[in-house]
Amino acid sequence: MKIVLLGAPGAGKGTQAQSISKYFNIPHISTGDIFRKNISEGTKLGKTAKRYMDAGQLVPDQLTLDLIEDRLNQEDCHRGYLLDGYPRTVVQADFLEEMLRRKHDQLDCALLIAVPREAILDRITGRRICPSCGASYHLKHNPPLKKDTCDICGHQVIQRLDDKAETVEERLDVYDEQTKPLISFYDERCILKSVDGTRAINQIFNDIVKVLSEVRLHDHTQE
Ligand code: AMP
Repeated sequence: MKIVLLGAPGAGKGTQAQSISKYFNIPHISTGDIFRKNISEGTKLGKTAKRYMDAGQLVPDQLTLDLIEDRLNQEDCHRGYLLDGYPRTVVQADFLEEMLRRKHDQLDCALLIAVPREAILDRITGRRICPSCGASYHLKHNPPLKKDTCDICGHQVIQRLDDKAETVEERLDVYDEQTKPLISFYDERCILKSVDGTRAINQIFNDIVKVLSEVRLHDHTQE
């Protein structure tokens, strides 16, 4: 099953992606995580990406294309994957479509986690992540059991630089301008599904499981 996860920054894509990936046993591929790993390893790509990320801007398309192609060609993606944070622009969506077309393949679903902009602001600024294992939390809605400490690996959780209030408005504007058009892009291809992302995390996940189980029924790679 090949899935693209859509939604504004802060819609809960990362949290749901971890559960979806486990439940359906497909790799969770987050371009944001790949960039952050490059930043922490001090690579050339990381240094370039950081400048854009810290400013709330998208990393230029050209830097994402080879990166995603390499990743999707790896062995673990053979039977499917969950893309989180890619595509972010119509250029990236076209690239992905063309890459799949060359293999006589296509996406099975673009799943939108729908949350209004006002709710997003509250969420993003309360978000904390574990820099070690990538788990994500929210100070109000999903706090770690022990203050500031990751439940999974015990590392201290942090606020991403791009989650600070100053950058959030900018990221939401960028989303509206560059990423939101992907909703109609995938709707036109009849693979768009949407879930209400304003409810409790487990309720959203239940809806997602229902939607994706339907999609899986029609997925030829599972036969
Ligand atoms: P995320 O973790 O998905 O919220 O991504 C964090 C930041 O990484 C974004 O605000 C962008 O600066 C950058 N980024 C992640 N994925 C992409 C992408 N597909 N295209 C361009 N920039 C990206």
